Amino acid sequence: MSDKKKILLIMGILISLFTFASGELYAAGKKKIILIDPAHGGKDPGLKLNKDVSEKDITLTVALLIKQALAGENNLELYLTRESDKTVDLKDRKEIIKKIKPDFFISLHINGGFGKEASGFEIYYPGFNEDVVKGKKTTQDNTLQLKNKCRNESLRMAKIIQENMNVLFPRKGRGLRKADLAVTEDLTVPAVSVEMGFATNPEDKKKLLSVNTQTEIAKILAESIKSFYR
Ligand SMILES: [Zn+2]
Repeated sequence: MSDKKKILLIMGILISLFTFASGELYAAGKKKIILIDPAHGGKDPGLKLNKDVSEKDITLTVALLIKQALAGENNLELYLTRESDKTVDLKDRKEIIKKIKPDFFISLHINGGFGKEASGFEIYYPGFNEDVVKGKKTTQDNTLQLKNKCRNESLRMAKIIQENMNVLFPRKGRGLRKADLAVTEDLTVPAVSVEMGFATNPEDKKKLLSVNTQTEIAKILAESIKSFYR
């Protein structure tokens, strides 16, 4: 091989190495971190649906199915606050959020109460102290901007989930509700909490206990996350 050819070959290798490395960096920089929170767990069963199944079981199943459904997405990285039936209290969950610093936090729950009549799904999103956000400019402009961004993103995700859930549960949407979530209180992270149905409503309960519905809900939430970042 002539010197000229050698130089060309080395240059070629260097260029492809550089392209590969920058491509990797680019992909890594674009990854969005999603933290799914199957509420309750371990010593805290949440609501009981029957003698064998509690809220903690269904939230975990749905969370694991979401993770599975999004495993092939190159721009998303999924984490769960628990992957088994273990006790994770509110403080632990907050610590996990602080450690993982997700781009989005999604909590899963099952509703209860308001008599047997109440049914359907509800989506909660935090308002990030709207009065403060809308209030006068202060030296903490950056914090305000971040809160604004979190509020807008939370509302946008809540709307997407609502729209998609409406397809599976027509006329079952109880609307979007602005409320601080205990688990993300004092944290500035985009978040929603999905109340998947009512354990106290016989029809909802039957659906929530069915593997089909659990799989459908997981699919809907996975699709919603995908379209949010599309
Ligand atoms: Zn709950």
